[in-house]
Amino acid sequence: MSGYTIYTDMSIKKSREKLSRIRQQIYLLNKTRQKQVGKLLHPKPMIVGSLYEVYKTCSKPNCCCKKGQKHGPFFALSISIEAKRSVKMVRKKDLEVVRQKAQAYQDFQQGLAKIRKTNKQIDILLEQIKQQFLEQYK
Ligand SMILES: [Zn+2]
Repeated sequence: MSGYTIYTDMSIKKSREKLSRIRQQIYLLNKTRQKQVGKLLHPKPMIVGSLYEVYKTCSKPNCCCKKGQKHGPFFALSISIEAKRSVKMVRKKDLEVVRQKAQAYQDFQQGLAKIRKTNKQIDILLEQIKQQFLEQYK
């Protein structure tokens, strides 16, 4: 009985255990991913942007807004598309709808970010499996 054989058996056993751990992790991540994707399949209408409050001063010379009591809140939508930022004022009658749709957008984006993170984890684990099975043609 040579030491070498024992060593090889051990390392084979270890790499088998490692493989089955990786497969188990991928299996769980896949289930997570499936749930994450499921949440995004039927989104509500969305509006890009985030809502924020705006307070304003007016042009009346002796108005309270000149002493720090500004008018508002008014609501504006801050929209960033490809590093360009713009602001749109939101009419009071649209406020609730815009709030909901902007929130739906935020939620969707968050969901997407989660899926991308899970994809990346799965990708890394699959690479590890690949490494274990890679052979070189001699
Ligand atoms: Zn004023």
